[in-house]
Amino acid sequence: MPNHNYVIVGGVAGGMSAAARLRRLDEAATIVVLEQGPAVSFASCGLPYFVGGEIAAQSDLLVQTPESLRAALNIDVRLNSRVTALDASGHTVSVTGPEGQYTLAYDQLILSPGTVAARPPISGLDHPSVHTLRTVADAVALRQFAVAPDTPRRAVVIGAGFIGLEAAEGLRLAGVDVTLLEVAPHVLPPLEQEMAFVVAKELRRLGIDVHEAVTITGIADDGGRAVVSLGDAQAFTADLVLLSAGTVPASAPFATGGVTCDERGAIIVDAQGRTNLGDVWAIGDAVVSQDAVTGARRPVPLAGPAQRAGRLVADAIAGHFPARALPHPLGTAIVRVGALTAAMTGANRAGLKAAGLPFTTMHLHPLNHAEYFPGAKTISLMVHIDPVTGAILGAQAVGEAGVDKRIDVLATAMRAGLKAPDLIELDLCYSPPYGSAKDPVSMVGYLADNLVSGVVKLWQPDDLDWALHEALILDVRSASEFATGHLPGALNIPHTELRGRLDDVKAAAAGRPVAVMCQSGVRSYIAHRVLVSAGLISSTLSGGMRTLRDWLGAQADNLLTRE
Ligand code: FAD
Repeated sequence: MPNHNYVIVGGVAGGMSAAARLRRLDEAATIVVLEQGPAVSFASCGLPYFVGGEIAAQSDLLVQTPESLRAALNIDVRLNSRVTALDASGHTVSVTGPEGQYTLAYDQLILSPGTVAARPPISGLDHPSVHTLRTVADAVALRQFAVAPDTPRRAVVIGAGFIGLEAAEGLRLAGVDVTLLEVAPHVLPPLEQEMAFVVAKELRRLGIDVHEAVTITGIADDGGRAVVSLGDAQAFTADLVLLSAGTVPASAPFATGGVTCDERGAIIVDAQGRTNLGDVWAIGDAVVSQDAVTGARRPVPLAGPAQRAGRLVADAIAGHFPARALPHPLGTAIVRVGALTAAMTGANRAGLKAAGLPFTTMHLHPLNHAEYFPGAKTISLMVHIDPVTGAILGAQAVGEAGVDKRIDVLATAMRAGLKAPDLIELDLCYSPPYGSAKDPVSMVGYLADNLVSGVVKLWQPDDLDWALHEALILDVRSASEFATGHLPGALNIPHTELRGRLDDVKAAAAGRPVAVMCQSGVRSYIAHRVLVSAGLISSTLSGGMRTLRDWLGAQADNLLTRE
């Protein structure tokens, strides 16, 4: 068997995963990893926690070194070595490194170049105070700024995506005054608005000044400090600006060499990770994936999919196995924000609407573990399902505890093709400190079963106009809860009194459907069944007042009546 010569571009998540797997499958091969930066296999996901000081030592971010990789896996890692060109017909890449410029031949080439920070059209981005957070050096610079003794230290973070949020929290934790600017209508744009509102509240509780739906017009200099201006004439002076407004695939040298990319520069690959060029493969953040739910084609910049793709492409190259296709990602992601965790898997409303997929949404507010065991915390959980088949299309959760477990179970169920009502059948571990005999995931199953079978009919927060103008709103909370804030025109009959007051409901409804609601959706479900049995047309508010308040956000106080 000839000795193979594998060359890998990019020495972090995808690239190193491919290199390590190739070595395990092919002991005789020559494996060269070309990394343009000064570190290999560094913990990019740990960088924000180094900024905040939770990861104390810079060395903890360096998971491997060229020496350790040489010793353990006989991999030739070349740092500070940038691939500048690809000649696919000659099977070579051009490299600029510490030894100067040279040409390196390959039998098989794997591209895992990741991304660079996007530079939106904001004037003044070249101001010396503008930083990004992509590398260990970036994190060290931010940490030095955060702990510098001079005050005041003010930072503006542009972009409230995952990295922007983590960095903002890290800077705040280190005592910096932080303003967070987001162009989208809310922080963490992939989250639904009722979830994002809870996250934004937590960011404000941490002391972060959050501005959503802003237009950033430019960055100017004021005596060495940066002044970030918004379209509405607001301006924020900062000693540091962190640009975290998305990413762009680092594919330019390869596109020039003939690798086909989409309009964003993301590399197009086949089911196994092959590019259009023979013996050239691509993985990771720079590559187009097909969304498992919506079929949308876009890069999914997450470490798990990059690692998996590295392994699977190595398997396909080494040819030891029937080649597995790269899994279509669900985009399962998680972030800590102060005391909260926010996590998601699958599609959100915007993605489902863009794909033209019918869906209905369930909102639940279960506890993370048995109520009677001290310290139970509420999880806000929402799941989109196909209203006919019950297929799970996407799920999101926010809460203080137990969020990661539920979203991971739902992601696993989706990957396994379980329908939402099938969740009833899952055997999940339970004892009071950990969960409930009726786990939040089981409750999703019960509710989905009710929905698909027609036992329950939901109305959604975005049906509010319909409820206000075309239905009787029946609020079945207690009178004291009702007095803390209710929808205008709502009739209050506590659910325990409903059976005796059906005539009142019929008279008030006057032929209109009844839009029932309570605090979280449990009591209104009971009431809904009573009304249906009495021959009334009824539906129950998904997630109740709790979800409605989060959906309305700052507008809740204007709309809700107190008495
Ligand atoms: P990368 O890991 O980015 O590696 C690409 C490497 O290629 C880079 O080191 C780059 O220098 C090198 N390179 C590029 N072009 C060339 C060239 N021409 N020549 C030589 N070398 C080149 N994901 C999660 O799932 N969870 C998280 O919590 C999370 N947190 C993150 C926090 C931060 C601050 C960052 C920046 C990312 C985070 N991610 C997280 C994303 C995750 O790190 C990426 O999805 C993953 O690293 C992608 O792997 P990759 O191999 O495609 O690219």
